[in-house]
Amino acid sequence: MLKHPTTKFYRRTSQLLLILVLLLSCSFTTALLITRSGYQKKLQALSNRLEEETALQQQEDKPQDTPPREEESTAAAWEPEVLEYASLFPNLYVEPPTKREVAEKTVYLTFDDGPSPLTPQVLDILKEKQVKATFFVTGQEGEQAKERMQRIVSEGHAIGVHTYSHDYRQIYQTVDTFLEDFDKEFRLIEGYTGVKPKIFRFAGGSINAFNMDNYHMIIGEMIRRGFTYFDWNVSAQDASKKATKQSIHDSIICGAKDKNRCIILLHDSGDKADTIAVLPQVIDTLKSQGYTFAPLTNEVQPIVFPYERIG
Ligand SMILES: [Zn+2]
Repeated sequence: MLKHPTTKFYRRTSQLLLILVLLLSCSFTTALLITRSGYQKKLQALSNRLEEETALQQQEDKPQDTPPREEESTAAAWEPEVLEYASLFPNLYVEPPTKREVAEKTVYLTFDDGPSPLTPQVLDILKEKQVKATFFVTGQEGEQAKERMQRIVSEGHAIGVHTYSHDYRQIYQTVDTFLEDFDKEFRLIEGYTGVKPKIFRFAGGSINAFNMDNYHMIIGEMIRRGFTYFDWNVSAQDASKKATKQSIHDSIICGAKDKNRCIILLHDSGDKADTIAVLPQVIDTLKSQGYTFAPLTNEVQPIVFPYERIG
């Protein structure tokens, strides 16, 4: 029996449709697989990026002062330099000041290099004029020196260390030699007067031709030990061989002009008769200009020579 042509047509059409469906299905699956693979790649990339960012964030969140590993090991290996002179003279310490004061219109007369045969005359003048001063003394030993130092203290003046030897070459050789000289004078003053001096004046001033290489260290060490040093802002110029009564007087009065505080450098030594001679007049003139006189203490804001910073 022959098949009806319509049936044949339907049959062919169904076959074609089936092939078409199969083809479409294959394409769709392939497309799906490709897309899925793309998504997976994208997901992986995103995941990697997220991990990287998280790691970066954790790095940034670390405290800023946490040093890198290499620096830590370097720091552990570093040790501070031991300053051997810091352990010398273990009794050479005083209480540091608890405050500093800047007085108004004040004169601090300071006499270096004593005590001397002229010290009693200086003390007589100061007593008569009712003013207090400061004596930075040297290594004078013996009964007379002792009596003069005791009188300085008992009459209300300040006493401080200048130097024992006054030998610049010797004392400024090293910090050790400076401390050795200072300690000798410190103990001498304490032994004679019972006062542990807290103030001092460098021989030649805090910065001089003999300590250019080590003044930073010496100053640092003396401050560490609690001491206070004073330079000056007015000089009587009485150490000059050319000094006269007039020049000493003028150096002080001109030097003090327009200054609120004057730390005046004078000398108390056997050949300084001219200084003694002009002292009463100088005190009278400065009093008439409205100055009051005071002894130095470690609570007076020091006047010191400026020095350059290292580094
Ligand atoms: Zn001196």
